[in-house]
Amino acid sequence: MGYISDALLRKYAELIVRTGANVQKDQVVQLTVSVEQHQFAGMLMEECYKTGAKKVNVDWTYDIQSRLNYLYADQETLSTVLPWEEEKMKQMVQDLPVRIFIASEDPDALSGIASEKLSAVTRARSRVIKPYRNAIEGKHQWVIAAYPSVKWARKCFPDLTDEEAISRLWKAILKTVRVREDNDPVAEWKAHTDFIEKKAAWLNRQGFVSMRYHSGNGTDFTVDLIPEAAWEGAGVTNSTNGAFYIPNMPTEEIFTSPRAGMCEGTLVAVKPLSWNSQLIEDFSITFHQGKAVSCKAKKGQALLEKMIHMDEGACMLGEVALVPKESPVNQCGFLFYETLFDENACCHCALGMGFKEVLPQGNDLTMEQAQQRGINDSMIHVDFMVGADDLSIDGIKQDGTVIPIFRNGTWAK
Ligand code: ZN
Repeated sequence: MGYISDALLRKYAELIVRTGANVQKDQVVQLTVSVEQHQFAGMLMEECYKTGAKKVNVDWTYDIQSRLNYLYADQETLSTVLPWEEEKMKQMVQDLPVRIFIASEDPDALSGIASEKLSAVTRARSRVIKPYRNAIEGKHQWVIAAYPSVKWARKCFPDLTDEEAISRLWKAILKTVRVREDNDPVAEWKAHTDFIEKKAAWLNRQGFVSMRYHSGNGTDFTVDLIPEAAWEGAGVTNSTNGAFYIPNMPTEEIFTSPRAGMCEGTLVAVKPLSWNSQLIEDFSITFHQGKAVSCKAKKGQALLEKMIHMDEGACMLGEVALVPKESPVNQCGFLFYETLFDENACCHCALGMGFKEVLPQGNDLTMEQAQQRGINDSMIHVDFMVGADDLSIDGIKQDGTVIPIFRNGTWAK
């Protein structure tokens, strides 16, 4: 605090709770936030109660706690999901709480920790956690929004002082979430989400069976779509209570899950990828019969290979997303080291888990059923940016008709 006015901060908290999470009367809220952001946590709690929340529970996080655990505790200990943790997840399946996550982590919090240890722990814990995550998928509201920490800001702006860096990051965050002293962010978000929904509806009417990507940097790629799968963007409706919520703030993307195992060619990344607190730079991934068969990175080659081999589905795509290059995140012109922002900069694809909710009545399907209908499954979901300034994307219909979707990195029309 201190970097922006309390009034502006309050406006932001209100936006997160009312437009983002859309907390309804008598809902339980689970807030996950760093201890460093305790004052903002208080503001969010108050907003939740003001909108009628029944109870707000806080899961406090602390970068140093995670780092020390990884440094000193052994792999087996860290991999074990204790009974009380599992009980908590069972409770979550029952309560279907609204979940609010405030991202503020130091992107380097876990740097220097062996990536083998990190991925082994993630893998082991995912095995236990994933069924619970699947059980609440689509049935509860959730939102991730950001709050700058000093370490995060310094990572983005290493040459600035702490104060200058935090100021710059705040400015960028507020720009991307459309919060200003003189505006009504709720109204701006309505117009923004309406635009995204209009574009998504157009894509859905086309019923494309595949898309072709091309750009001067070497991207030359074709991916099959699942014609009955929907393009989605901006908001989601909670199937249990009909509440419309916005999972990511900011959000610029329209996305769907492509047909797993059906893509061909090379995608060249246009921005570095931060994974497990480490950077993969200047990379490309080549696919054959839907699987990543080779990858090249100037930096982080081993890490990229590890990621692709995390499990059976990690080498296949779970998401394709369209983001015009005019995105305010892209206009900020720096890497946020945080997927929430970086994935909203330009067009991207994700390796790993797909979204079963894009299928008709997808939320009622088990992951196995969704897989049979073409949705990829994996413990990872990692976005990488392919939206070059000259990127063109064509949509191809069943009868072979080719319709331009993107030209020069933005909507063709
Ligand atoms: Zn995405």
